[in-house]
Amino acid sequence: MKHLKNNYLCVLSYFLWAVVLLHSILLPAYAADSVKLQLRWLHQFQFAGYYMAKEKGFYAEENIDVELIEGGPNALSPIESVLKGEVDFAITGSGVVIERMEGKPVVALAAIMQTSPIVWITLKKDKINTPQDIIGHTVLIMPPPESAELLIMLEREGLSSSTLNIQPTSFDINDLISGKAQAYDGYISNEPYYLEQQGIEYNIINPKDYGINFYSDVLITSEQQATEQANLTMRFKKASLKGWEYALNHIDETIQLIHQKYAPQKTLAHLRFEARTIKELVIPELVQLGHMNPGRWQFIAQSYQQLNMTQAEVNLDGFLFTEKTKTDYLLAAKIGGFASLLLAIAAFIIYKFKKLSVQLAQSNQRLSQQAVTDQLTQLNNRRGLEDNARRVLNLAQREGFPCCFIMLDIDHFKAVNDNYGHQAGDQALVTFAKTISQYRRKHDVIARVGGEEFAILLVNSDLIQSHQLALQIQQDINNLMITIPKTTDTFKITASMGIAEASGDLESFWMIADKALYQAKHAGRNTLVVAQN
Ligand code: GH3
Ligand code: MG
Ligand code: MG
Repeated sequence: MKHLKNNYLCVLSYFLWAVVLLHSILLPAYAADSVKLQLRWLHQFQFAGYYMAKEKGFYAEENIDVELIEGGPNALSPIESVLKGEVDFAITGSGVVIERMEGKPVVALAAIMQTSPIVWITLKKDKINTPQDIIGHTVLIMPPPESAELLIMLEREGLSSSTLNIQPTSFDINDLISGKAQAYDGYISNEPYYLEQQGIEYNIINPKDYGINFYSDVLITSEQQATEQANLTMRFKKASLKGWEYALNHIDETIQLIHQKYAPQKTLAHLRFEARTIKELVIPELVQLGHMNPGRWQFIAQSYQQLNMTQAEVNLDGFLFTEKTKTDYLLAAKIGGFASLLLAIAAFIIYKFKKLSVQLAQSNQRLSQQAVTDQLTQLNNRRGLEDNARRVLNLAQREGFPCCFIMLDIDHFKAVNDNYGHQAGDQALVTFAKTISQYRRKHDVIARVGGEEFAILLVNSDLIQSHQLALQIQQDINNLMITIPKTTDTFKITASMGIAEASGDLESFWMIADKALYQAKHAGRNTLVVAQN
């Protein structure tokens, strides 16, 4: 009897131990993750999304507790803060790509502004309207790489920076008003408001108008955080973007909050001015919030190189955060077997239901889809291109965005069929289609318009950017190794491209791009020609 009782006590104490142990393992899983976000500048509408993500509980929904740290002229640079581990996340300019090229372990999560707010502000009475007008004057710039957009604009306009007197910025708009400088480097969303307040007429020289589209307000973290805390990083990004979406859809509520809690010195009218201009830089109607295009980063990186701001090679491997990096092992372990089992069952049921309803919807759509889809590559066919182009061009015209059209034709494709067989030819077409599809953004249209002819309609992309993208595609195609079906043998292909601005109707710019393509063929193939339309 005593023996039995002992056994019983023993089991009981084991059980208690197990409870205590489980408790201590599970408890930290419920405590919120605390993170710090370093802002790029003083509190203002520029950071609206983060305030709203906090205020509306989007961070809390992801079990994250966020501390916002104000920036300013005397704060540590956001990149340094991240690299030193003083904060987990930060907002910075596109110059972060230089740091990456130079080997610093920084990772970009999202680009909030699709074009940079940095512009030169001049006074109307000085009659300085274009980069050319600046020659011989005193201009202010922020320390490199902050004002790179302005310098690249000069370079692209064929102006040497030695023809002007470049001074480090004073961060004081009064230097423009008093005539100490004739061009002030400011934020289009901020300083013009002060001038309007004082009734001073001004001009804006905006790199965007000269084809320089740099990202701005890039959300970054360290490589360590992005890999070891991939799950937290993903949740933080998700909640932040949700905050931005909310802020841009509820501007009045947002500026009230910023005025009350963060920036009481900024008037509601000033915040409203800022909100309006920032929304134009984020362009939420046209671009998915936070979107980053590898081709655009490539262009930005090359621009920095061209300005000698770095000698490092352009290498963006690992720079853009991908959401399938290492799993958060600790968290996964904490969730435990039972929860996963429940999840698996739920997922299975949802999967079954989804599959059923998707099947239903699919069979309904299949017929109409087939009419606009190329069966081999699953890209749009010619009709699909025509349908989509109409919709997209209308949208771009309404928003005033430049569009470009790239025609691509595989070189000597007949020889591919002759040498390796028709199946290998098909394989090449499928691989080619996949390669160009990688670059598709939300509104772009990609189509197979003929046997080995493809077309890309790029929305909100000017000739410079489209040319950059085409170069990138050309490089990717040159690197392709296509496998001959049922063998281990491979072969290579090249393509020629014609690029034209997509203005007017599809037929007319198609013809212009086609002519450029023809010239590319005649120039020896594996070549790009940009049409001067
Ligand atoms: P170029 O460099 O001048 O463009 O030469 P090319 O040989 O690529 O051009 P051409 O227009 O003379 O030949 C295109 C070839 O593409 C002919 C046709 O057999 C092949 N082709 C067209 N559609 C398909 C297809 O769906 N599958 C395969 N395998 N070949 C195709
Ligand atoms: Mg052809
Ligand atoms: Mg061809």
